[in-house]
Amino acid sequence: MNKQTFFTPGPAALYPTVAQHIQSALDKQIPSISHRSKVFQDIYKQTYHNIRTIFKLPDDYAVLFTGSATEVWERMLQNCVETESFHLVNGAFSKRFADFAQLMGKTAHLHEVPFGEGFDMAKVDIPSTAEMICVAHNETSAGVSTPVDDIHALKDQHPDKLLVVDMVSSAPLPLLDFNKIDAAYFSVQKAFGMPAGLGVWLVNKRCLDKAKKLEAKGQATGAHYRLVNLWKSFEKFQTPPTPNVLGIYLLGKVSEDMLNQGIDQIRHETEVKANLLYNALSNPTIFKGFSPFVANHQHRSASVIVANTPGSAAEFIAKVGQHHMTIGSGYGKYKDAQIRIANFPATSVAQIEQLIETMTQCL
Ligand SMILES: *Cc1c(COP(=O)(O)O)cnc(C)c1O
Repeated sequence: MNKQTFFTPGPAALYPTVAQHIQSALDKQIPSISHRSKVFQDIYKQTYHNIRTIFKLPDDYAVLFTGSATEVWERMLQNCVETESFHLVNGAFSKRFADFAQLMGKTAHLHEVPFGEGFDMAKVDIPSTAEMICVAHNETSAGVSTPVDDIHALKDQHPDKLLVVDMVSSAPLPLLDFNKIDAAYFSVQKAFGMPAGLGVWLVNKRCLDKAKKLEAKGQATGAHYRLVNLWKSFEKFQTPPTPNVLGIYLLGKVSEDMLNQGIDQIRHETEVKANLLYNALSNPTIFKGFSPFVANHQHRSASVIVANTPGSAAEFIAKVGQHHMTIGSGYGKYKDAQIRIANFPATSVAQIEQLIETMTQCL
């Protein structure tokens, strides 16, 4: 069987070393160890250390594990918002976070821009009553990125509010200054190139203090998965319930490999590959009728490239698939009018060049 190379935005291609780490985990019987054992504590500690190094996390940050990024939305709202949250919305994922706030009985303030556009921060008006500001670094549905300087500026303007960043489809790439944000999160099946089933919640002590404050006021913040409980376990490098031990082990190994390769090098290659893709898809003599969806170059995502297709996206994706390359469809109502190509660390410059070459043969 010929293997497909996945350029889908998640689940995505596995990082090249994942197979060997799964094998080593089986050899070491990692899936059978107790999550109360010293072996597990050492795995958590090592993974924490590597994640901390990648993101340059300050001392007051915990690294917590959940089932997925979606779960983190719920946990953040439960534990850190009494009544009001503020959401910068530019696509399906940032919208869903706001929907969750409403479902949980909070007042969600939205600043929403049309699909495919980024934010003009001068136009963003955040009410003084909002307790938490939520923004996606990379809106996967539209291929729109919010520049990290714009994210940091939110904190400069609203130092009293908690600032929460969705980096699900860009981590480990964005150069966020974690002194300027209070929490961020991702799922491992996207740019980390791992099997799904683990959410990673980077969260600081201000969020913990807020949760404690709300609990003191009598707010229900959850049960077993309360932030206070997760944090208490983290201090012993444990988790309240039985976690995805294999996922935590793999994350430690993959992040170690990324550190060895050099995060700056990975960022640089991501830029190179993104430029190759955007340049190709902007070239009317080769990709006739195609065009990058995001007009503003400042807001174009480096990790998820979205392009309009002249005809049916599904037909084009099927043709490319026959060459053993899987690219993603458009999101929601753009399913058959756009393609989405993941540009994650798992795929090399040579593979992106080959993808472009293959796509030209499928026109
Ligand atoms: C995929 C994605 C999520 C949700 O991740 P799950 O692993 O499905 O919980 C949230 N935000 C963004 C931007 C995403 O791309």
